[in-house]
Amino acid sequence: MLTDAPPRRVDRAGFLESDRIRTLDLPQDGRLPSITKSIESAMKGGGSAGVRHACAEFLDAASEFYKTPTCGIRVLAARPLRVREHWTSELFGDYTPETMLIRVWMRTAVRKEITSFGTFLSTLCHEFCHHLDYQRFRFHDSWHTRGFYERAAALYHHARGTPPKKLFWLPTAGDRWRIDWPRTNRSAAPGRVG
Ligand SMILES: [Zn+2]
Repeated sequence: MLTDAPPRRVDRAGFLESDRIRTLDLPQDGRLPSITKSIESAMKGGGSAGVRHACAEFLDAASEFYKTPTCGIRVLAARPLRVREHWTSELFGDYTPETMLIRVWMRTAVRKEITSFGTFLSTLCHEFCHHLDYQRFRFHDSWHTRGFYERAAALYHHARGTPPKKLFWLPTAGDRWRIDWPRTNRSAAPGRVG
């Protein structure tokens, strides 16, 4: 994971605000984890209609909790030829703010392998966080800041029922940040060797 470079002029304040918000309110009930299980079962079934239905239920529940309009969902069999060029890091899904539509695809672009459930869910949460940026936080753009990735991770771990991981960051060229995976993984599994 690599953050976007801060915008030069306009929207710099919004970018910094996005970077600063490192947590996300999470529902206290088990609704999202339970829907997540139905996404997993639907993926095992292999048909995109069942997956789409479960994803729509997930997004409805999440939108209700965060008091945003519901976003639409399209589950594609494979990566479309055209994806939003603005977000080059979107390998498994995208979000169009104008139409509030999330698209996720079930096969990877290059080798046409089935996207793993973890990656699929992580993508769904990531794209939903773009929706939250516009509809809840009212940012004018949705940047991949450290805060953005941490909000998406919080939602993912809640949905999957896994313990939240503290993310550690390293500064990199161009005023960007990347995840320090060794440190992040060490802190997530104290005592683990390696
Ligand atoms: Zn993104």
